[in-house]
Amino acid sequence: MDEDKLQSLIDGHPQLFHGRGPEVESYVYPGWYPLLDHLCGEIERLLTQEETKRFKWLQIKQKFGELRLYFRSDRRDEVQKLVSQAEKASQTICQVCGSHGRIRDDKGYFAVRCDKHTPQRAKGY
Ligand SMILES: [Zn+2]
Repeated sequence: MDEDKLQSLIDGHPQLFHGRGPEVESYVYPGWYPLLDHLCGEIERLLTQEETKRFKWLQIKQKFGELRLYFRSDRRDEVQKLVSQAEKASQTICQVCGSHGRIRDDKGYFAVRCDKHTPQRAKGY
């Protein structure tokens, strides 16, 4: 199984995470870590100190093969714009290694994988 990088993200962005994980159980795939790290940096630059205090990650997860992020912020629209960019970018980034990938459907199991990390049973798709 892929290693969860959630704690690294929390450690790297203590102000945005307030030193703890999102409200709902979350998971950060290693291949998507740089993308999320970059996104958190962008949000930190956007928000004032007071807005950062009130910012909250609700959940970070994968849904139907793409990154899905839920948050609460005073500047919902502006943050959502950055979040949507990251969610879209995740569709072509291998969850395992971060190299170029695409969404693969293996009998209902969706995941973004490069050729090297495509599960054996999904080959030929
Ligand atoms: Zn890969």
